Amino acid sequence: MPVHVDYLVLGLGGMGSSALYHLARRGLKVLGVEQFGIAHDRGSSHGETRIIRKAYFEHPDYIPLLQRAYTLWEDLEQESGKSLLNLCGLMVAGPPEGDVIKGVHLAEERHGVQVETLETVEARRRFPGFQLPEGFEVTFEPEAGFLHVEDCVQAHMDCALSHGAQIVLHEPIESLLVTETEIEIQTANQHWVAEGVIVTAGAWAGECLKDLQLPLEVARKVLFWNPVQSPVYNLDQGGCGFLCQMPFGEFYGFPSLDGKTVKLAEHTGGDMVTDPTNVNRELKEADSTSVSRFVGEVMSGLSPEPERHAVCMYTRSADRHFIIDQHPRNQRLVYGAGFSGHGFKFASVMGEILADLVTEGKTSHPIDFLRAGRFQKEDT
Ligand SMILES: Cc1cc2nc3c(=O)[nH]c(=O)nc-3n(C[C@H](O)[C@H](O)[C@H](O)COP(=O)(O)OP(=O)(O)OC[C@H]3O[C@@H](n4cnc5c(N)ncnc54)[C@H](O)[C@@H]3O)c2cc1C
Repeated sequence: MPVHVDYLVLGLGGMGSSALYHLARRGLKVLGVEQFGIAHDRGSSHGETRIIRKAYFEHPDYIPLLQRAYTLWEDLEQESGKSLLNLCGLMVAGPPEGDVIKGVHLAEERHGVQVETLETVEARRRFPGFQLPEGFEVTFEPEAGFLHVEDCVQAHMDCALSHGAQIVLHEPIESLLVTETEIEIQTANQHWVAEGVIVTAGAWAGECLKDLQLPLEVARKVLFWNPVQSPVYNLDQGGCGFLCQMPFGEFYGFPSLDGKTVKLAEHTGGDMVTDPTNVNRELKEADSTSVSRFVGEVMSGLSPEPERHAVCMYTRSADRHFIIDQHPRNQRLVYGAGFSGHGFKFASVMGEILADLVTEGKTSHPIDFLRAGRFQKEDT
């Protein structure tokens, strides 16, 4: 006989840990189920840091969500007693006609996001570690920075547990059966029927929700830590985050937290992954080619050869925007998927949105642009 639960969250990574927290904080009975441990390194929410910024060049409609995300991260810092957010600022550089720089200015115009545009001489003085190509425009967003990614997941989990959430770890969900009246969830050892389910399965979302045929692809992404040869990138000496749109790809990174290495990566590219559980975590020779080229051409105080690496996964939707919706057969099955390599900063507000959807069937947050219906072809 299946065990009845009120709410169940499938997958306790970046988004699921937040959803679990928001349900538990509302005094609801919620069970979280995770195939690995808490804040593990086998999905998409590991590798020390994630950029957070408000000048959202991907789409200005994300900005109201970001305003709330910042508030909720600060609330979580208060409640957990952990420092999660560091607003060290973000330098963005690229061709003035490129979609990154144009999108930054759109965010500034439409939503009043604070952005400084720097003259070439001033940019060289402010960012001595970067030799940017002639003709690039450089902006600086002072309210941007980074999140300590594993600490954020852990903080959401700790606070969810303190509000009474139950969890089952190291237990992969093997089947999810959605009918108009019931949602059944099964692992090798357990069988539940839930009133409402939130699926936040990251790179496994396509498989868990295969009846929905969501347009998702998973990419293998490599993060690098390169040795510093100069103190210019150090956080305690004014180092900040950076994001550069180069002719050969988009690259981003963080200030040096340890004074020894800078973490950086390419946002574009990545090999396709067919089996997220067994993604290749070894470093291949070609993995570091473009990042080493970027370092060699742009970052004068950094060694082009990485000292260490980590492998992570992007789950990209067809248009690179998130997919947040309810199952067409049963509105009590809610999901958040396709965070497309830029979702972590939203995890705090995504938990709130997913909790709204599963409990009330609606949310006051503006998420219509993220609904799955946008992929349905219109009849001609
Ligand atoms: C290299 C890299 C750099 C990034 N940089 C940034 C950045 O700077 N800023 C930013 O905002 N975002 C960034 N992102 C994106 C962001 O980290 C992701 O969008 C976000 O972490 C995705 O969270 P998630 O909850 O969807 O996935 P995950 O955190 O992977 O969580 C999914 C969870 O579901 C579990 N699960 C899946 N299937 C099952 C099952 N059947 N049974 C039980 N459990 C299951 C998994 O084990 C996992 O724990 C980056 C991502 C990567 C990979």
